[in-house]
Amino acid sequence: MHELSITESLVSAVLEQVDGEIKAVTVVIGRLSGVVPDSVRFCFDVCTRGTRLEGAVLEILEPAGRAICRSCDEVTDVADGIPLCSCGSVDLDVVGGRELSVKHVEVVV
Ligand SMILES: [Zn+2]
Repeated sequence: MHELSITESLVSAVLEQVDGEIKAVTVVIGRLSGVVPDSVRFCFDVCTRGTRLEGAVLEILEPAGRAICRSCDEVTDVADGIPLCSCGSVDLDVVGGRELSVKHVEVVV
């Protein structure tokens, strides 16, 4: 499963960079990243078992996809699938929604 290896790298990145007991982790998973947030949630529980991250709250932000039309320069929200501008063009530059990163880690003080 694709999400399992992604979650494993997120978890190990957090453990490497943050000391102490971790209360919550916020990750950003863009809607066009191809990663399923629910799967990450499930994998997070599995991957954190026995680590300092066990029991931490996982918060997932899901920014919508955005694209700029090359024909009319209009910015369009992109759902799943093929970006389509209201002018009818499919020649769009995707500028957002592919994010996949750790945004914030909350540590117990
Ligand atoms: Zn357009």
